[in-house]
Amino acid sequence: MDKNMPSQSPPLSDHISLTDQKQAILASIIATSDDAIISKTLDGIINSWNPAAERMFGYTEAEAVGKHISLIIPPDRLSEEDVIIGNISKGNKIDHFETMRMAKNGSLIPISVTVSPITDPSGRVIGASKIARDISIYKQNNEKQGMLAAIVDSSDDTILSKTLEGIITSWNKAAEKMFGYTEQEIVGKHISTIIPPERLQEESFIIGEITNGRKVDHFQTVRQAKDGRQISLSLSVSPIIDDNGKVIGASKIARDISEHINAQEEKARLFEQVKALNDKKDEFIGLASHELKTPLTSISGYLQLLGTIVTDEKGKRFVAKTILQVKKLNALVSDLLDVSSIEAGKLRFNIERFDIRQVIENVIELFAHGNNKHKITLETDISELYVNGDAHRIEQVINNLLTNAIRYAPGSNQIIISLRREKNNIKVGVRDFGVGIPPEKLKQIFSRFYRVEEGSPNISGLGIGLFLSEEIITRHNGEIWAESEPGKGSTFWFTLPLEDTITK
Ligand code: ADP
Repeated sequence: MDKNMPSQSPPLSDHISLTDQKQAILASIIATSDDAIISKTLDGIINSWNPAAERMFGYTEAEAVGKHISLIIPPDRLSEEDVIIGNISKGNKIDHFETMRMAKNGSLIPISVTVSPITDPSGRVIGASKIARDISIYKQNNEKQGMLAAIVDSSDDTILSKTLEGIITSWNKAAEKMFGYTEQEIVGKHISTIIPPERLQEESFIIGEITNGRKVDHFQTVRQAKDGRQISLSLSVSPIIDDNGKVIGASKIARDISEHINAQEEKARLFEQVKALNDKKDEFIGLASHELKTPLTSISGYLQLLGTIVTDEKGKRFVAKTILQVKKLNALVSDLLDVSSIEAGKLRFNIERFDIRQVIENVIELFAHGNNKHKITLETDISELYVNGDAHRIEQVINNLLTNAIRYAPGSNQIIISLRREKNNIKVGVRDFGVGIPPEKLKQIFSRFYRVEEGSPNISGLGIGLFLSEEIITRHNGEIWAESEPGKGSTFWFTLPLEDTITK
């Protein structure tokens, strides 16, 4: 070739190699493309099929080329082909047409397809090239996002998101309802729009946690609505993390807990009220029994005097009966005074060493002199046994148990008291053969003012004897309980430790 010859166009050999080069580049693009690239004649006969088409539809090039394009068109979409070919024949391109095609194994693939006419050098349309992209993932993502958006939108909880700088980026319907700002009003604004000024520092704490990738759970606080209303909330804030694992913002779920808080406050208020009333009642019982004590003491004194003055038998009997009733009244008032002392934490004991057998015998003797038909027997092989404690208070317990054994056993006349030594305890039992106690009430009967009404409807009482007894025994570091079979009778037991009986 003459190098000095001027030339407008490249020599023929160069021209061919350039076209070859171009074609080679095109061929390699087509071969390596992730999109399926197919060409077909105007009659729909496939004449090229790249590797991506093989992967997408499952047919090899050899299998597909020469076949009709309906090979990959689902039967219910065959009519689409007529429309496409109609447009292509007129030289029109079809852009990003979303449809479904069918793979060799029958599965349907959502695709976005762009179809362009192929023209010969004279400009005549001789076929079509198709570029198809599998959009299943995109579709799935879209569906997922749509579902998530629907959940967020229909949630009763306020859901919002913000950047790390505190700029609100999303705001659901519940947030609109709670705070009164619409999405348009608030997206783009700073989160401090809804934070009461005195709580602004909370935000830096929350953002600090979020920036470090930590979640803030059930944070109870107060936020402010558009109309200035303060709302008690429980907030859960989570970091929003991008594909590279970097924290780029925060999502917040807020739940209105005003009602919950109001209910709690109301409960606390009611509790205070009930407690105040209860304290007043205790105070009244204490005061009333104290006031009753004084005249009762003087009535007792005058009755004793009267007993010495009255000489006739009938008169003496009446005085004796009156003295007995006044004693009962006195005991009742003393019990009430004890209850209020317990409530005030002022029940005191006089500790001494005493013989428990002697105390039991004293009580039995008192009852024997009283006016009752019950025969009380003591079963024991102990002749004397000393314990530390308040003998009067222990006597009061045995007295209470015996009184009950008599009152709640109107149909029998036998009561058995037992005294045993068990390890480091003494154990005393009072057994009757009366109405008994339902098993589910065996613990409750020791509560203040508690009475089992159904078993003993005609027996009156205040429901304090066992409450006092339990207090006395537990203060002596002992235990008290009942065993019973309804209709057959009950046994009340108490124990007292033999050493260091009482500490208070
Ligand atoms: P009160 O006898 O004055 O009602 P207590 O505190 O002594 O008060 O007794 C509480 C309740 O326990 C009684 O009302 C009675 O229902 C039940 N109870 C106590 N002792 C017996 C018993 N020996 N047999 C049957 N029930 C009893």
